[in-house]
Amino acid sequence: MDYESKISKQIRDLPRSGIRDFFELVIGRPDVISLGVGEPDKPTPWAIREAAIRSLEKGQTSYTSNLGLESLRIAISDYVENQFKTKYDPKTEILVTVGVSEALDLAFRACLNPGDEVIYHEPCYVSYGPSISMAYGVPVMVETREENEFALMAADVEKAITPRTKVIALNFPTNPTGGIMPPEELEKIAALAIKHDLLVFTDEIYCELLYDGRQHKSIVEFPGMKERTILLHGFSKAFAMTGWRLGYACAPSPLREAMMKIHQYCMLCAPILSQVAGLEALRLGKSAFEDMRVSYEERRNLIVERLNGMGLHCFNPGGAFYVFPDIRSTGLTSKEFAIGLLESKGVAVVPGGAFGSPGEGFVRCCYATAPDLIVKAMDLMEEFVTEVRAGKRAAA
Ligand code: PMP
Repeated sequence: MDYESKISKQIRDLPRSGIRDFFELVIGRPDVISLGVGEPDKPTPWAIREAAIRSLEKGQTSYTSNLGLESLRIAISDYVENQFKTKYDPKTEILVTVGVSEALDLAFRACLNPGDEVIYHEPCYVSYGPSISMAYGVPVMVETREENEFALMAADVEKAITPRTKVIALNFPTNPTGGIMPPEELEKIAALAIKHDLLVFTDEIYCELLYDGRQHKSIVEFPGMKERTILLHGFSKAFAMTGWRLGYACAPSPLREAMMKIHQYCMLCAPILSQVAGLEALRLGKSAFEDMRVSYEERRNLIVERLNGMGLHCFNPGGAFYVFPDIRSTGLTSKEFAIGLLESKGVAVVPGGAFGSPGEGFVRCCYATAPDLIVKAMDLMEEFVTEVRAGKRAAA
């Protein structure tokens, strides 16, 4: 059978995730130190796991409301109000989803007509461009640059706005750069959204993981923004709950309703077990992740110092748990660097090109890894960089 012709054009034309391709190389190699996967090295805090175990023991194995447990939506409303100074009605403005991944997909599918343009920034999490395309939108990429510590410049956003622009999609702190937004730049982007009557989708998945005493500020907090913003958040990163697949969207009620229509037909509801665990996570709040956050900050300091020490320029990112060193001084592409490092030293990092063309020349290292392994990985990377440079010198 000619399967190519059977697969929808939209899907056939989608690129495969560069991360996935790279990880096929790592699977089945227990000797490898991985700075590759973007998830916490620790399991979910015990109290959260215990709440889920208790709920299973009680036989809580049913569907929930399509919207998610009401108790969880109330807890989300309180948490979001505290974190983002913005009040959402648990009955009409909050939807519990299967991770931020589903929430993002719902937001694009609920709002885009074919040909609508979405401005998003690269380097970024691999799913943005494809999620926009799958919703028949047109991804319009705006580059963030190392000279701005990978913040998004409002002037660059403004240049990308056309009469077809419908949405600006933001993710700060950013995967893969760890970049954050100066509030004054964010304010300018908010003003552009208002001026051009645009929606803003803000993926806040790393908002709790900020360092050096910084306070997070979301675009939704600026005057006039709640009515045009869909706030996407979840439990995967701060609460170390990637495998539970739990997230949520907060949105003005007509948009929440539109997202809910898709969710009820394709997902029905998020798993009840995960929702109960999420409720316990929010009950614990900051106390569940503050120790992890502090330890990430120490690891960030360690890895940034080591990378700069070996001559791979690396800015000190303000959030998330990634560093994005510049590897151009080695003369290798990001893929050559990552494959060479993996094959010769058994250390996995992700080529920056996997996060969009502006990521080329960089690699992503996730430092949510035990400090002794970070030290070992850095020793091996330093050996690799020294050997590459020596080779280059010999060739020249
Ligand atoms: N957004 C960003 C920026 C991410 O990095 C990730 C996961 N790596 C997601 C969304 C998806 O998160 P979830 O586990 O909640 O689906």
